[in-house]
Amino acid sequence: MRGRGHAEPGPLLSVPAQSEQKGPFMPEQNAETLIEGLLLEQRTFEPPEKFRRQALISDDSVYREAAADFEGFWARLATEFLTWSREPTKRLEWTPPHCTWFEDGVLNASVNCLDRHVDAGRGDRVAYHWEGEAPGEARTVTYADLLREVCKLANGLKSIGIEKGDRVGIYMGMLCELPVAMLACARIGAAHIVVFGGFSAESLAERLRDSGAKALITQDEGWRKGAKVPLKANADRACAQAPGVERVVVLRRTGDPVPWEEHDIWWHDLTEGAEETCEPEPMGAEDALFLLHTSGSTAKPKGALHTTGGYLLHAAVTHKWIFDIHEDSVWWCAADIGWVTGHTYIVYGPLTNGTTSVLFEGDPAYPDWDRHWQIVERYRVSSYYTAPTLIRSFVKMGEEYPKRHDLSSLRLLGTVGEPINPEAWVWYWQVIGGGRCPIVDTWWQTETGGILITPLPGVVTTKPGSATIPFPGIEPEIVDEHGNPVDRGAGGFLVVKRPWPGMFRTLFGDDERYVSTYFTQFGPEVYVTGDGAKQDEDGYFWLMGRIDDVINVAGHRLSTTEIESTLVEHPAVAEAAATGAYDPQRGQRIVCFVLLKSGFGASDELSQELREFVADKIGKIARPAAVLFGEDLPKTRSGKIMRRLLKNIAEGDDLGDTTTLRDPVIVDDLKRKADAALGRSA
Ligand code: ATP
Ligand code: MG
Repeated sequence: MRGRGHAEPGPLLSVPAQSEQKGPFMPEQNAETLIEGLLLEQRTFEPPEKFRRQALISDDSVYREAAADFEGFWARLATEFLTWSREPTKRLEWTPPHCTWFEDGVLNASVNCLDRHVDAGRGDRVAYHWEGEAPGEARTVTYADLLREVCKLANGLKSIGIEKGDRVGIYMGMLCELPVAMLACARIGAAHIVVFGGFSAESLAERLRDSGAKALITQDEGWRKGAKVPLKANADRACAQAPGVERVVVLRRTGDPVPWEEHDIWWHDLTEGAEETCEPEPMGAEDALFLLHTSGSTAKPKGALHTTGGYLLHAAVTHKWIFDIHEDSVWWCAADIGWVTGHTYIVYGPLTNGTTSVLFEGDPAYPDWDRHWQIVERYRVSSYYTAPTLIRSFVKMGEEYPKRHDLSSLRLLGTVGEPINPEAWVWYWQVIGGGRCPIVDTWWQTETGGILITPLPGVVTTKPGSATIPFPGIEPEIVDEHGNPVDRGAGGFLVVKRPWPGMFRTLFGDDERYVSTYFTQFGPEVYVTGDGAKQDEDGYFWLMGRIDDVINVAGHRLSTTEIESTLVEHPAVAEAAATGAYDPQRGQRIVCFVLLKSGFGASDELSQELREFVADKIGKIARPAAVLFGEDLPKTRSGKIMRRLLKNIAEGDDLGDTTTLRDPVIVDDLKRKADAALGRSA
């Protein structure tokens, strides 16, 4: 199904013309460019014919409809996808930078996720196939089960004084009770703040304080790779630093004894004997559904506020169309619910659509690297969604793991979280997808609430490494530092020029930071994403990394993503990270950190070879000053490379706070190597 060049565009869509197509695709290298797009990926992949025939969206009518009237488009979908207790008459109200969607509409998110499916006689449908961390531990939860559990907990929360407008923290592992806790909050009108279970007590405390949480829901302990994680003990330490938390609800998971405070109450005591029905709180479309902090790859985490109507609509529509969800689909988003990906594509999107999902408590490497493929085979998963960092780990571990299992149920694959390098994309396509599954590379952020740039899989021809084109109704653009659109092929700031329903409404408690971070650089109407990107001659978007991470070599501004993708093309390289280290002559010099595939050993020769490899593929200007080999790369707990730290390592600086790292030990090793390679005494 591989297309050749751009010979056969088929129904390849172009974004509604925003600026005239000008200039060559490969720009002249010039120091004025904000980021230079130097890589050119030529391969294209059309939607496989069999997939296209069955796809929910199989022509460009939704793009045309949204281009003609984007507010009308979302308003139509708001009645089709959601159940309102009062239908909205309003659509978008925009007082830049603030906006509302469907403001006079009234609904409840838990009713949309649960009651209406049960009322329609679909209560026996499986909501979650839950798979525990220990192989063999599994549970099936239907929509009727979920509704009952949600109502009981909602009644329990009310009985301890939680009411509409309150905030409730949730700090749990990937259990069915996690969505239950979120929906119980939604049912009574309390906003939830889910904090990823891998975060420390300090990170939890900071988020609880920032959001003014009145209660916390947690569990005794969680499981991680066969070891127990002391969630309750962490929660106790966090609550000691977050005095606003009045009650702590504790779910029993491992059953080990845990320290007990006066304000604690067991989940089972709170829900035992509670009524199995609970009247849902009528919520305005613009009432808060949740706060969620960004992953914190860059700076102090920001608590994005999401509201009910627009968010739920965006979640449901994007989930259904992008992942092509049918009646009989089995959907698996392998993210953690602690990230926005899990909120939107494990909880709110799939449940609003009445979908059957997999919910997995464990780790992809436990007990062995074929765990995900075992789960795909067991539940006959049809659509699978994960992050490029994990795909690169799969590549590194080798094909024998997926080969052990029958993956023929898969019909679509997705990625999110980082740019995916073309090598990993093609591996995913061939080895996991068997050449029959379209890949949707979805670009979005905690702030955007749902996906904004993505192919619709039955319609859009894909290119490995490109998130392709905007979702219908979304209007991104690439601009220079003055806010003017750049030429096709040139890099710049990725911005979005008008609101969409799922966008965050503010940063909780800090509207000033909302305005200054996102809506000041190019005026209050233009949302600044913080990412760098380019658009190719077909209008396809290529994400190039954070704008703050751009490496400036002798006046040339280079994309971290392009250097990293090039390194990963080399047969020895599994993962790579590029950063700029200060250089008095050239501005910055490029320092790369590389993780080798098994079977390849680190050597000076290989380091030299990789430097030349980058120079050959991108240009001499991009030749790294050093290529260093590590046992692993410093990653945040969401699996993203922590670039601030790499920069410190490359520049020989103090490393600062490394507690949010997954594995703090590896940075000392990298630092030693960097100091040696760059001629600094340790
Ligand atoms: P913080 O804002 O605190 O630094 P974060 O940006 O890592 O944290 P998220 O909102 O989870 O937190 O991640 C969104 C970012 O992830 C995007 O801005 C982008 O840099 C990257 N990203 C997500 N999806 C893609 C994708 N498909 N292609 C390229 N980059 C992506
Ligand atoms: Mg961000």
